[in-house]
Amino acid sequence: MKRSLIKYTATLAVSLSLPFLSTSSLANNISFESMSQDISYLASDQLKGRASFSEDIDVAAQYISQRFDEIGLVPLAGNKNFKQTFSITSIMPKELAVSLNGQAISAKNLGMASTLEQIDWQNTQEFTTHVIGKDDNMRQVLAQINQSGGKHVALINPAHSKLFNGYRRYFAQGLNKLSLDHQGAIVMVLTEQTSINTIKVNASTAITKQTLTNVVGVLPGKEKKQEIVLYSAHYDHLGTAPTGEDNTDVIYNGADDDASGTTAIINLAQYFANKADNARTLMFSAFTAEEIGGFGSRYFSKQLNPDDVVAMINIEMIGKPSKFGAGNVWMTGMDRSNLGQLLNENLKMKNTQIYADPYPKQNLFYRSDNATLARLGVPAHSFSSTQLDKDQHYHQTSDDLASLDLQSMHQVIESLSIATHGLVDGSITPTRVDVNKIKGHGKIY
Ligand SMILES: [Zn+2]
Repeated sequence: MKRSLIKYTATLAVSLSLPFLSTSSLANNISFESMSQDISYLASDQLKGRASFSEDIDVAAQYISQRFDEIGLVPLAGNKNFKQTFSITSIMPKELAVSLNGQAISAKNLGMASTLEQIDWQNTQEFTTHVIGKDDNMRQVLAQINQSGGKHVALINPAHSKLFNGYRRYFAQGLNKLSLDHQGAIVMVLTEQTSINTIKVNASTAITKQTLTNVVGVLPGKEKKQEIVLYSAHYDHLGTAPTGEDNTDVIYNGADDDASGTTAIINLAQYFANKADNARTLMFSAFTAEEIGGFGSRYFSKQLNPDDVVAMINIEMIGKPSKFGAGNVWMTGMDRSNLGQLLNENLKMKNTQIYADPYPKQNLFYRSDNATLARLGVPAHSFSSTQLDKDQHYHQTSDDLASLDLQSMHQVIESLSIATHGLVDGSITPTRVDVNKIKGHGKIY
């Protein structure tokens, strides 16, 4: 799950309010042994935190491919194997110098998000000027600029210096883009000044291409081949922290985030392949690069017709008991389609339910790969059990196998295998998401 910009926020939810049922009374669809083996490997130190662009994430991709092969999935039409490889553009800031009203601005009071290779602005006609006074909402103004795209200079009152520094650090990490369709820049200047008489802005960036890989396997439908049910999770994580002086743990294992979801889709694939009676086509996608901007799902969504996707079950952080109890799961965006309601009808006879996201303020609907498909109208939701408000391991090196509750995780996967039967057999079709009610991607950062 993505960290939210500046503030650390995040979550998902579905759940059952009744006393928890034992696995045996619920079902016996998912092999505990196979699940344990998959998560143990994917979360192991051997994979060094599965960072996007690393060699280690390729080893993880190979493992997932092998599992899909053993299970008997087939590649997407037109692909020779399970790997869906593509490139993205990385843009790193190199230089930035601003002189405002005849005075050079010190580097610590400057920040920039730019997809332009070179900036050489000499007058105010070359960009739009924004003045963010001490009572203005800086976050909101930047978000509006980002939605509109284009070229901008923002003069920001020092009252916002803390937030300014947050954005400055974030932008300094560079930008990644699936395409350079929207060329634009925001240059931020922390200053008491509120108007521009003369200005000079000189900046440059280094633009490079790098490859990434999703792993996608298909179980073709027996009757409604055209209709797709998508099960997904992201298999990338944060890599390693800079090595400390002592022998501290430097590997971000991402056991919960999101080796747990990746393990779930592998084992759901195994279950439905054994069952071999799926009316609809089932697609299992392990996405790359979620943590750095959701590029795996964004590329994937352009390789098929989103109208064919009946539902997306995105699984994020299910390795620990939810606030509704062990084995319970919740979903994001419950009110954006009737998927949750339909799934719960299926769960009623099992005396369980999927809960609504208990952390609406965390914006979790937008913080995982489901949002990309939802923007295209797909009833696309994330299913999770994380207690994000309390989780001490979120995006820490301590998010490792030892911190998980495998029994609880197993029960969540069992629940999802039961809850989604109606999607698989074609008996339920959720309403589409209203795309007008969903925020788009920013154009600059
Ligand atoms: Zn994450």
